[in-house]
Amino acid sequence: MTRRIDHWINGKLYQGADDQSGDVTDPATGQCVARVDFASSTDVDIAVAAATAAFPAWAATSLAKRTTIMFRFRELLNARAGELAAIITAEHGKVLSDAAGEVARGQEVVEFACGIPHLVKGSFTSSASTQVDVHSVREPLGPVAVIGPFNFPAMVPMWFFPLAIAAGNTVVLKPSEKVPTAAMWLAELWREAGLPDGVFNVVHGGSTTVDALLKHPDIQAVSFVGSTPVAKHVYTAGTAAGKRVQAFGGAKNHMVVLPDADLDLAADQAVNAGYGSAGERCMAISVCVAVGDCADALVDKIRERTVTLRTGDGRRGCDMGPLVTAASRDRVRSYIDAGAREGATLVVDGRGVEPDADGDGFFVGPTLFDHVTPDMSIYTDEIFGPVLGVVRVATHDEALALINSNPYGNGTAIFTNNGREARRFQSQVQVGMIGVNVPVPVPMAYYSFGGWKNSLFGDTHAHGSEGVHFFTRAKVVTSRWPDQANAGLNLTFPQNA
Ligand code: NAD
Repeated sequence: MTRRIDHWINGKLYQGADDQSGDVTDPATGQCVARVDFASSTDVDIAVAAATAAFPAWAATSLAKRTTIMFRFRELLNARAGELAAIITAEHGKVLSDAAGEVARGQEVVEFACGIPHLVKGSFTSSASTQVDVHSVREPLGPVAVIGPFNFPAMVPMWFFPLAIAAGNTVVLKPSEKVPTAAMWLAELWREAGLPDGVFNVVHGGSTTVDALLKHPDIQAVSFVGSTPVAKHVYTAGTAAGKRVQAFGGAKNHMVVLPDADLDLAADQAVNAGYGSAGERCMAISVCVAVGDCADALVDKIRERTVTLRTGDGRRGCDMGPLVTAASRDRVRSYIDAGAREGATLVVDGRGVEPDADGDGFFVGPTLFDHVTPDMSIYTDEIFGPVLGVVRVATHDEALALINSNPYGNGTAIFTNNGREARRFQSQVQVGMIGVNVPVPVPMAYYSFGGWKNSLFGDTHAHGSEGVHFFTRAKVVTSRWPDQANAGLNLTFPQNA
């Protein structure tokens, strides 16, 4: 019988009132492995009610007790990370080592959140005015919603919920309906770690479930990650409903290679960053910008490496797994058709790949285009697959102009041995996350993650100090203890004295 995935509300499994559900497939075999319940607005009400009821006690729980639970969660996750990686591979398709890497990057945020007593520490000023003291505190917001994309079933939710919970909020997580099991596994782990019921809840579903969360009056803040059109919608609807919203969108990340760069290193990194996770990363490199006379040699080196990659079932030690669904595979193939039709040079064609897998998985092999121009759809659109395009430009300035005119601004990288050119790039490029000889510059947990332009709607990035700010609000207390010397009426605006 097909496994059924329910919601998780108030510390236990909850079966939706509605009969809406969706298929969950193993992308390496094409088999349906489970059916996931889709939450109706009534189910969302029940989840938010649980989070609302749990909030006062959790917010009032001492930092010492909250931190103890955070540490326990961290220890459990550390001990059982392999289980979570296997779940990710089974539903997303990325190879096991990559899934383990995803878990490790999420774990970093849990570790950062273990330092919450320090992170929410306020400041104190003694005798700001005569016998007047001032101090600031940061307090939690209430129930918050986290809405995830399919491509990082564990790491992206973990950008948000460890800090949200550690700071005293309660959470309703809506993972992608394509990869729902990781969230359920994490919910069980929270229970084992001793998190009180109702602090962490999971509802499944698609746009109806998201819209019910966006409209719900008790949800105070929304952290969303997904494609740009949906991110725009979530930001607009969420802020119109009076919520604090950070909505992370899509990307088109450029890797610039200057002629003086180590071309072997650059080619290795272009392949790793272009085809890792089958290109289904918001920080994947999809455009390689070859500057000056290095283009022929660079394309050759990327091609040599690309043709050695083994595509197949992520449990078999392959380099690259499948796309997440048949629809994604067909979409990526149609972009390869379009690139060839629009005049780019198809150097490596992944459409005919013979994967190392059983069944009917959703595979496209690594694909390399040369002579891509900015008017082609393989350049303008986020393909979200293993398709790397090389754009040739004459100068560093031309490379900068290309990147800065792109509507996305998530990540970018420059490869060079020239420090002056690298410094110029990092100061002039209009992108949120920049790598210098680092192709996928995902910041550590104690910095904040986020792009510019159409890659982020809202002004607060994820985790790091900005994450702490997002999940808390400030209070400033000005206090004076009664003293007869201050008695008497005086209607002028308070001044320092
Ligand atoms: P998606 O936009 O299709 O879905 C994201 C979430 O929104 C899912 O939970 C989904 O159920 C929900 N959703 C889908 N359509 C909706 C609608 N019309 N109304 C309300 N909710 C809706 O994205 P995806 O395909 O799951 O993920 C891939 C996208 O996410 C890519 O564009 C990628 O670049 C982006 N992404 C961005 C970042 C970042 O940090 N900027 C990180 C990871 C992924």
